Amino acid sequence: MNDALYIIKDTPSNGKGMFATRDIKHGTCILSENPLVLIGPDNQRNFEAVNSLPMINKMQFLALRNVYSEKEMPVLAGIIKTNALPRGPNSDEAAVYRDLSRVNHSCAPNVHHFWNRITEKESIHAVKDIAAGDEILTSYEEVLMPWAARQVSLQKKFRFECRCKLCTSASNEEYDATVARVKKLSDLIMVYVSMKNDPRKAIECVREILALMDKAGIWGKSTFIHDGYQISAMYSNYDLAKEWADLLLESYLLDEGESGDLYKRYLGYAQNPKSHERAGWGGYIDLKGA
Ligand SMILES: [Zn+2]
Repeated sequence: MNDALYIIKDTPSNGKGMFATRDIKHGTCILSENPLVLIGPDNQRNFEAVNSLPMINKMQFLALRNVYSEKEMPVLAGIIKTNALPRGPNSDEAAVYRDLSRVNHSCAPNVHHFWNRITEKESIHAVKDIAAGDEILTSYEEVLMPWAARQVSLQKKFRFECRCKLCTSASNEEYDATVARVKKLSDLIMVYVSMKNDPRKAIECVREILALMDKAGIWGKSTFIHDGYQISAMYSNYDLAKEWADLLLESYLLDEGESGDLYKRYLGYAQNPKSHERAGWGGYIDLKGA
């Protein structure tokens, strides 16, 4: 753990938060942390796990924020619900962390948090350059969500009205329009590939999405770069697939570093795009110039 990159201290209005102690470059791993306690679907077991922690760790757990009242749920359940992060996408297993659970939310985050299945740690990587003294902020929601949906979800799960830089900026409406267009294009990619057998149009959609996300400064392009790679490989354009795979590796490297699960997995596909399980599935359609 490189604890010199951040400090945990009080924020003006959001309890404690994490702050950069020096300038941090895009792609830097700020923290990779072992869980304080592992959380599963059975609350009784979770309570037992918390209660059997060594005293110092139990105190760290009890010092974390709880946005729920005791009328709604027991204190331990409230702390878990406020702070637990899933161990991987769609997992019902989660964990609570001494430091990572202190990272506050922004709809325009400067870090991405993720569970590394190989190291079994939760990590945060900078998704843009961060200046010394800036608060380190992650998104508790998917980034491609419109303002109203974000507010409803944050209110329901974390009991706050988001007043982040994006939610209070004049470009919030423009952001919603970008999100809507990206979603529409994303649906179109599926239509062009699975129904119309038109991968050229699908690749055009991918390129438009990437340009829109760049313009709006939205993190999360890897998913769509992956689409570009997969479409090229499916339709047997292996030179193009290699270009997309190289781009994808660069993107995964910034998102999750060399130890990231995805980076390791796609290193092989970048070297040999034909090794992908869907390579050649669509026969051959020339995508030169697409
Ligand atoms: Zn916000």
